[in-house]
Amino acid sequence: MDLVVARPEGLYCPPGDFHIDPWRPVARAVITHAHSDHARAGSGRYLCAAPGRGVLLSRLPDIHLDSLDYGEAVVHNGVRISLHPAGHVLGSAQVRLEYGGQVWVASGDYKLAHDGTCAPFEPVRCDTFITESTFGLPIYRWQSQAELMTQILSWWRANAEQGRASVLYCYAFGKAQRILHGLMTQAGEAGLPGPIVEHGAMTALNRAYAAAGVALPATVHASELPPRSPLLRQALVIAPPSAQRSPWLRRFGDASQAFASGWMRIRGTRRRRGVDRGFVISDHADWPGLHAAIEATGAERVFVTHGYVHAMVRYLCERGLQAQGFETQYGDEEDHDRDEPDSEALAEADAQADAKTDAAASAPAAAAAGPTDDKAGPAIPSAIDPRDAS
Ligand SMILES: [Zn+2]
Ligand SMILES: [Zn+2]
Repeated sequence: MDLVVARPEGLYCPPGDFHIDPWRPVARAVITHAHSDHARAGSGRYLCAAPGRGVLLSRLPDIHLDSLDYGEAVVHNGVRISLHPAGHVLGSAQVRLEYGGQVWVASGDYKLAHDGTCAPFEPVRCDTFITESTFGLPIYRWQSQAELMTQILSWWRANAEQGRASVLYCYAFGKAQRILHGLMTQAGEAGLPGPIVEHGAMTALNRAYAAAGVALPATVHASELPPRSPLLRQALVIAPPSAQRSPWLRRFGDASQAFASGWMRIRGTRRRRGVDRGFVISDHADWPGLHAAIEATGAERVFVTHGYVHAMVRYLCERGLQAQGFETQYGDEEDHDRDEPDSEALAEADAQADAKTDAAASAPAAAAAGPTDDKAGPAIPSAIDPRDAS
């Protein structure tokens, strides 16, 4: 018996009679994390991981919410349910279901790299694994947290030395806190190049993270600095993408602008965004991360919910797994902040995917990207290096 099936209202567990991250209102919803494509209003009762309560309630304040510590279990209609860290954002969880001698895990969104703002991803053994595939193409390989933070710090420092503010656009839930925490950790005793100005859209989430014990650097609101303060020209301004064309930005004068997103990996995204720099940072697993996670589960069956479903299913089937897609309404959460990768960039990625899937399926490591040059815009490798082909 399948422990999870795709229904029009969301992923459903038939023996347990509950849903996981449903997109329509249902009686009982288990929530993997509080991003808006996974946590929606209107259901009768909700269950989430305890560290995610604050952020989930900040988004859906009036819900009937129960929570479990990571690793703690409840039995519902004979199905044993437990939640395990997914490493994606604060409180994110994989849902482990055990019934009739079978174990299924629905992972929601996840990443393997530890960023210090949430419990690290925990591999959970299972028979069937339900995975995302947001960045499920060989071109997606992330740099380490330390490398990324060093890049942002040196961009900020160079701007501050020239008396220019540094405006960094990023998604308000997860990405912003990861960057704030990472910059503070990376700067260490040397300290940060200037003050950090936080856009108002970040405030509630920063508070929820701080309340959960995540160390964040001090931030100010723009209104707390005098209009002509020289500090404005040394500041890092952290703002959601929707602030890009707002009058709020004018006080920072001729600022350098940058964007932090996994989509910055796609050639041309930085230019189309109209920013000076692109930092390739994502809270989703990259291609090697997806495969490491899938392999660590030991699962023989894999369902793929969103992202590059077709390419991932095909690759896994060729590796001898029973893989298939699940029809869902999950997306990249950044879609919900008017931060969607534009259609031109997606068309380009799709074209690359079509061209690459065959080669990638037989030699994924061969498509490894070299270091990206943010100034030039990240380039997608144009050919598979034959020396690496197996
Ligand atoms: Zn998410
Ligand atoms: Zn998602």
